[in-house]
Amino acid sequence: MPDPQIALMAKKAREIMHNAYAPYSHYQVGACVAAEDDSLFVGCNIENASFRLTSCAEAAAISAMVVAGKKRIKSIVIMGSGTELCAPCGACRQTIREFATSNTKIYLCDSATCEVCKVFTIEQLLPNSFGPQHLE
Ligand SMILES: [Zn+2]
Repeated sequence: MPDPQIALMAKKAREIMHNAYAPYSHYQVGACVAAEDDSLFVGCNIENASFRLTSCAEAAAISAMVVAGKKRIKSIVIMGSGTELCAPCGACRQTIREFATSNTKIYLCDSATCEVCKVFTIEQLLPNSFGPQHLE
């Protein structure tokens, strides 16, 4: 039986995915982050005619979490509108890394069914990474 919190997060990610501003790629992405206290934050991708200003769904959701005063990600659900599973880009892996712990789970879900297809830790997605401890 699927984890009810992850199922709820997948539904929220799918809902927000449809709010994506993606007039150029038409590739919609939705993300839902659970902070350590289980509060949820969503984000979608926001493209820009100046392509390098495009922001990712994961970054938007993490920004909303930080704006709300939360600093740790318990879990994050990510999905995209294509048929391939949507994995976080390199920049998002580093952004997740900033707020992740070794227990943080990253769920890649099917946007058609909201089913969890893959689960990773940040160490699996970004091994031997640079992080806050390097600047302490
Ligand atoms: Zn990204």
